[in-house]
Amino acid sequence: MRRRIFWAIIGVPSALIVIGAGAAFSLQMTRHMISGLWNMPDRLPALSTNSQVHYQPGAEDFARDVAALYPDAIARVEAMHGRRFAHPVTVGAYATPEAYAAANGQGSDVPVGVTFAGRVNLSPKLFWPQHQRLRAILTHELSHAHINGWIGAVAYIHLPNWFKEGLAVMVSEGGGAESVSEPEARAAIQRGEHFLVEETGSLRTLVGVKFTQAPRADSPSHVTLLAYRQAGMFVRYLHDSDAPAFQRMLQAVLDGRPCVEAVRVGYRQDIQALWRTFARRS
Ligand SMILES: [Zn+2]
Repeated sequence: MRRRIFWAIIGVPSALIVIGAGAAFSLQMTRHMISGLWNMPDRLPALSTNSQVHYQPGAEDFARDVAALYPDAIARVEAMHGRRFAHPVTVGAYATPEAYAAANGQGSDVPVGVTFAGRVNLSPKLFWPQHQRLRAILTHELSHAHINGWIGAVAYIHLPNWFKEGLAVMVSEGGGAESVSEPEARAAIQRGEHFLVEETGSLRTLVGVKFTQAPRADSPSHVTLLAYRQAGMFVRYLHDSDAPAFQRMLQAVLDGRPCVEAVRVGYRQDIQALWRTFARRS
């Protein structure tokens, strides 16, 4: 475990160096990341029945619920990603929003699950009052952790968010996008309100997905969920329209190749052309 903590501590700051000096917000972001590294769930007690599942004292029942879902969620991600996990993934179940926010690298208790430094952190909201989302959110986060485990923090950050989120939404059958329906997401695409099909990601755009034009939505979080739903539909379209191409693309991603290149390896056409076909059919 010490070795893994060591690599997380090496990996995340090197990702910070990648952003370089500059962005004003990065100071605050750096603070959240340092807090996350300092409060990784590895330090918390683990369940005797599943040593990957750690819990803040008071969240033991929550951790047991996570452990019950863990094997199926792992199997689902491995089947959909076409590869085993590079290493077992630590999951942290939290009792308080404060401890959760301190550990998740974002300094916020708004998202219900966050994968940070290869660890899955789960909000106490998933024990109550949003327990019905636990299976999907755990699977969604494990999709992120699976990719992160194979390619490391720096290459992971350079994958575009729509790809990572769309894949996680598809693999978890809607996890993270539950409150936006497919018809709503499709109608927005038809109005030209859709996420920007970016070819790379960066630390500046670590969370959220950019839009081509501002969608009709009542809150910023609804905009994010709309993007997640649309990205999930696009990634599922990529999967359903050509499953062998999808696997070639995903294996290239898991081998550490940039997204644009991986898409070309898989589909022998570029991502923008694939998007146009998808959007026409939506
Ligand atoms: Zn996600």
